Amino acid sequence: MPELPEVDFAAGIARSALVGRILTAVRTHHRAQRRALPARDIGRIVGRRVVRVERHAKHQHLVLDDGAVIAVHFRMNGDWAISVAGAPLPAYARIDFTTNDGQSLCLVDSRALCTATYHRPGAPPRLALGPEPDALTVDALRDALARRTGAIKPALLDQRVVAGLGNIYAAEALWRARVHPAQVSRRLSPAQLRALVRGIKAAIADGFARQGRYRDGMRDRPFKVYDREGDPCPRCGTAVRRIPQAGRSTYFCPSCQRAGAAARA
Ligand SMILES: [Zn+2]
Repeated sequence: MPELPEVDFAAGIARSALVGRILTAVRTHHRAQRRALPARDIGRIVGRRVVRVERHAKHQHLVLDDGAVIAVHFRMNGDWAISVAGAPLPAYARIDFTTNDGQSLCLVDSRALCTATYHRPGAPPRLALGPEPDALTVDALRDALARRTGAIKPALLDQRVVAGLGNIYAAEALWRARVHPAQVSRRLSPAQLRALVRGIKAAIADGFARQGRYRDGMRDRPFKVYDREGDPCPRCGTAVRRIPQAGRSTYFCPSCQRAGAAARA
């Protein structure tokens, strides 16, 4: 699943392809996207200029010159691909946005779960999002977790707690903070909360720093624990474990991240 650094990178691609250009054609190529973005909405989009591309957590908003918004979400597998108008579409192209400079920005997604929806001027999409990692504070995290009796790892995936944190960086952040993924959210100590905020920021910053290499196909098992079951923990050498939590895989070090253990301040 694309995480915050990947979506931020993708929003940059959309920005360079669309901002200042007029949308001369918008085509949907799969019934799921046709349902979400019907012909009557496309009729309101074509002929409009894109004035900016905003990223809110993992949502991308293409803002048009009349104030309308096309809200894009990659879901599990979406991405952007640029092609020349008239050339064969990239594999799994679900929607293509053609501009007056002869390029098409294609929303590609092998699973066709990505979404693009139209929002009229004055009625932007409502997003229930907590602070993004770079703006997250210890107080905000403590307040968001104060009444949560469930495990910390699934809580971190709730976009109202931290906006843009996904399965990969939640695991990486918990490893950095030495917090067990099954620890009860509201029982985190002040030292653990501080360590977790630092861990979230560091894990995401690492993802941003890696972004260029990631795209160049040099993804060489870049994570500390994510997707590394059985590999030695980079800190202590203990084999990384994988457990299911809320239907997702969680990776952690059973030595560094002990249940109930206090994080190092
Ligand atoms: Zn370890």
